[in-house]
Amino acid sequence: MTLPLPKGAELRQDTSAFLSNGPKKLLINGEWMEPLDGETFPTYNPATGGEIVQVALAGEEDVSQAVHAARAAFEHGPWSKMSGEGRGRLLNKLADLIDEHADELAELETLDNGKPLRVSRRGDLPYTSLHFRYYAGWAGKLEGTTVPVSAPNQFVYTLRDPVGVVGLIIPWNFPLLMCAWKLAPALACGNTALLKPAEETPLTALRLGELILEAGFPEGVVNILTGPGEPTGAAIAAHMGVDKVAFTGSTAVGRKILQAAADSNLKKVSLELGGKSPNVIFADADVSRAIKGATWAAFSTAGQECVAGSRLFIEKPVYDQVIEGLVEQAKRMQVNHGFAEKVHIGPIISKLQLDRVMGYIEDGKANGVEIVTGGERLGGELAEGYFLEPTVFTHKEDSLSIVKEEIFGPVVAATPFESWEELVSRANQSRYGLAAGVWTKDVSKAHRFARDVQAGTVWVNGYGMFDPAAPFGGVKESGFGREMGKDALDLYTQVKTVWVGL
Ligand code: NDP
Repeated sequence: MTLPLPKGAELRQDTSAFLSNGPKKLLINGEWMEPLDGETFPTYNPATGGEIVQVALAGEEDVSQAVHAARAAFEHGPWSKMSGEGRGRLLNKLADLIDEHADELAELETLDNGKPLRVSRRGDLPYTSLHFRYYAGWAGKLEGTTVPVSAPNQFVYTLRDPVGVVGLIIPWNFPLLMCAWKLAPALACGNTALLKPAEETPLTALRLGELILEAGFPEGVVNILTGPGEPTGAAIAAHMGVDKVAFTGSTAVGRKILQAAADSNLKKVSLELGGKSPNVIFADADVSRAIKGATWAAFSTAGQECVAGSRLFIEKPVYDQVIEGLVEQAKRMQVNHGFAEKVHIGPIISKLQLDRVMGYIEDGKANGVEIVTGGERLGGELAEGYFLEPTVFTHKEDSLSIVKEEIFGPVVAATPFESWEELVSRANQSRYGLAAGVWTKDVSKAHRFARDVQAGTVWVNGYGMFDPAAPFGGVKESGFGREMGKDALDLYTQVKTVWVGL
């Protein structure tokens, strides 16, 4: 088997072995199965454009089989009788296996998604196992409450029940980590799951499936269904046997999922959608630190992050200094394939996504924005892949598409501001509200901004930090529901109230 590896890259033996053992199958009821109609689709390496391997495409019938297996496991299998402590033990075992296979998983992630191997290995992988450990701790601690009521001789208490069969639909920017964001709390709470990774990046979810079986999760508890949004994702969202869908991705698809829930069984839905997050540098900030922070906020993961600090507001007195520093930092960034020794950011995920990003840049240019650095696709040895220069543009007009829509590429819109009122009004002038950043040495200004900005997460003098214990999610069209932390338990449990006549 010849893999589409960039020049000079070599894979570990275990990674190659995983890739070369034939087309990847669906995990249904504890077994790896061919799809019923035998269909497959290719997954590509975005650094070379070459096909890595064929992967099973789950159709509606495969989804139904998986729902059936998940329902049986939820209602009758050993999982349904397992204590929270038992579930926690399995989650910890899975975390151990992820750590044991971290090098291999990181390579698969870099191959399939393109992100630098160092980022996969030191970022995505440890956070993935940390998530499973964090929720392993919660599994045995799902308490209800006792409720004092006004009616006499009544004892009222609540139980926290799992929701049932949950569909977890994952995007391609943090393929394995997002599986953990959803699977870990879902399983800790006693649900059974259908996991659908993105079509672009199915490999680490499939390897995770093997580790789930090795850890000893009972059959049917986790089912993995690879395939495109339509038919696979849509079939999960519309299925009458799915009790809840947790989704991360675009606002457009989030709407479709809500619609499918409304048209089927009114399944519960939680949505983590797009963003166009404001990142603010005040004149009193530690400006050189803020410039570095703003660079990473805009360009890490090649800007393909829902929280990307893609609208940079700079207070007038330091505007020129920040733009100059930002351009210098952007030019220093090494754009390269993820296995290269010198690499800060990898490729865009696909030709489609690259074209989408380039479309925004072209439209911006046609409408008078000034590209101060970047804006071009990389050629030479990188011409086969989907590489784009880190791009900074400046603007005064907030209504342009490039300024207000989520681009999901290494592109940042920089603009000056002069007053508090102007800043808050422009920062909040967005249909999104996922995250925000603020750089200042004035502690009250920082808290005031955190109070006034419409966002689910605010970072002060930093950007893009996450922890399994810290809740995360959006306001406005960035979605609803909070993943991570104790709050995520609310997404995967429902409260039952019990009245006891005394
Ligand atoms: P999508 O929203 O299409 O994909 C996210 C997930 O939803 C994928 O697993 C996808 O499947 C699945 N999906 C697609 N259509 C349906 C459907 N009708 N029913 C159920 N599931 C579906 O994102 P794209 O990959 O198309 O990226 C487009 C834009 O979305 C980006 O430019 C970016 O703006 C935004 N995005 C935001 C993310 C975030 O973290 N907030 C993450 C990814 C994208 P499949 O991939 O197999 O088609």
